[in-house]
Amino acid sequence: MINNFVPAMALLTSRVNANPDVCDLSVTGEIFYDYELRQKGQIIELIEAQVANPAKKMKLGTGAPPAPKVLKSVTVDDLRTYAKFLDKTGYGDYSDVKTDTVWKAIYDVKSRSLPHKNGKVTSTKAIESSPCLRCGFIFPVDNITVDHQRPQSGGGFAAMLKVFRAMDLTMDGASGLKGQTIFDAVINKSVVAKSKRTDQAHVSATGFRGRRYELSYEGMLVYSVMRAITSKSILLQACMHNACNLAPLCAVCNSSKNNTWHY
Ligand SMILES: [Zn+2]
Repeated sequence: MINNFVPAMALLTSRVNANPDVCDLSVTGEIFYDYELRQKGQIIELIEAQVANPAKKMKLGTGAPPAPKVLKSVTVDDLRTYAKFLDKTGYGDYSDVKTDTVWKAIYDVKSRSLPHKNGKVTSTKAIESSPCLRCGFIFPVDNITVDHQRPQSGGGFAAMLKVFRAMDLTMDGASGLKGQTIFDAVINKSVVAKSKRTDQAHVSATGFRGRRYELSYEGMLVYSVMRAITSKSILLQACMHNACNLAPLCAVCNSSKNNTWHY
C-alpha cells in the first residue's frame, strides 16, 4: 500500500472547490495529442483538442469556433475512487506483498490443509498457501516467488495497462483468475463498466494483442489526471509494483525459461 494518489487527489479536490471554473490540470508532453482535459466544477471532461491537429488550425471560417466535442466526463468523486485503488494496490517495496491483505485476497492466499509427510505418516497440515498463477499447484506461501508479470525493464506501459484493465478502463475487461473481482475486493464498490467500453479505443501499445490493451476514453481521462496530479514516473512505478502486476509463481514457473510474456 502506498500513499501517493489519495493525498494528491485531495489537493486537486480542494483546488476544484476553491476555483470551480478553472482547469489547472496541466499535462505536458502528453501522449494523447488530440485530446484535452476540461474542468466544469466537480466534473472533469475529456474533449477533442482544438488546436492540436494542424489541419484544424488551417480551417478558415467566420464566427465562433464549434464547441469541442465532449468524449467522456467523470466526477471528482469517481477520480477519488480510482486514486484509492491505485494507493491500495501499489507497493513501495514489492517484497511486502506476501503479507498484504489486498494481494492475498486477489491471489487467494489463505490457510489450507496441505498434504504433509512426517516419517512414514502422511497427513495434512494447515499452512498459509498460494496457488501458482501459471500452473495452478498450491504451495506454502514461503515457497512461492513474486513475479513482475510485466517486467521492470521495458514493461512499464504494459504494467500500467494491466492495472487500468483491473479498473475496467480498457476496451476489453479483465480476464483470467483475477477476473473482474479485483476492484470489488479492493474498493468494495463494483465498477459498472459496460458503458465505458462502448466508447472508442485510441491508445494501443504496439505489439499487444487485443483491446484489453487499449485505454477507453475514461481510461485516457483517468491516466491523464493521475499523471497530472503526481507524475508519469510515480504513476508507472505504482503500476509496476502493483498487486495486479505481482503474481505468485512457483520456482519452476518463475524460471527464465518459462517466464515469457503471455498475451
Ligand atoms: Zn507453477
